[in-house]
Amino acid sequence: MNYSLYENFYSNPQAYWFWFAVVFVVGCCMGSFLNVCIWRMPLGESVITAPSHCPKCGHQIRWYENIPLVSFLCLRARCSGCKQPITWRYFIVELLTGILFAIAYAAITYKNMYFSFIIPAGAMIMLAVASSFIDVEHRIIPDALNFPAMITGIIFWGVECALGDWNWRLFIAVLVCGFAAWGFFYLFSWLGEKFFKTDALGQGDVKFLAAAAFLFGPAMFIEYFIGLLVASLSGFLFGAGYCLIKKQSLRNCTIPFGPFLAFGMVLAMFIPNLN
Ligand SMILES: [Zn+2]
Repeated sequence: MNYSLYENFYSNPQAYWFWFAVVFVVGCCMGSFLNVCIWRMPLGESVITAPSHCPKCGHQIRWYENIPLVSFLCLRARCSGCKQPITWRYFIVELLTGILFAIAYAAITYKNMYFSFIIPAGAMIMLAVASSFIDVEHRIIPDALNFPAMITGIIFWGVECALGDWNWRLFIAVLVCGFAAWGFFYLFSWLGEKFFKTDALGQGDVKFLAAAAFLFGPAMFIEYFIGLLVASLSGFLFGAGYCLIKKQSLRNCTIPFGPFLAFGMVLAMFIPNLN
């Protein structure tokens, strides 16, 4: 991807670090929203309506108690109502999302891509972080995470292709990539279940991989495969090691695959240009 529109913007170090900081703060705020998703989505609760409250005493979280990273530290990881400890997950998710957003920004500028690519990159990071935490605890990746990520990918590429001269071939290619990945992994999962009696690749994982394909688009085809390879290898090695330590047979011992998919795909996004 060439750029001309943002040339001065990138070559000016003050502007670079200003936007680096902005992207980090936005990432932390997105992490704060992901905490709500991680807590409520497995319970089937809405993530938009109903203000946040302490699950122990029902104390309603006021706006100044909801500032990413800062509030958690100021409250010393305790609810201001009942003084019960708040899990460190809140802080970790906010910080992790902020750091990954900042790395994505650095990777995008390094690769001379348009700043707008922070949108699919951010969506991929949000899907990865939320699905990892939910998958470890509940062994699912909710549709409520996968479908918005897919839709973000489709809308992003639609707008990207419509700007300038309408590049409908690229947009068709994005749709083909996404649906082909969905179909392929669906078939893979179905065959595994039917012939090998394993549910190594659950339906949540299948939709996660489809969402990643919609977000990556055809230009990052190679990166997508590297991400897949990293996910499979790291998942297999960790799983085998875990089962050995637990002294369980490989058939009875399962690990959530979501975090490995998330790791592979986020890592793949940060690979420098291959072509
Ligand atoms: Zn409380």
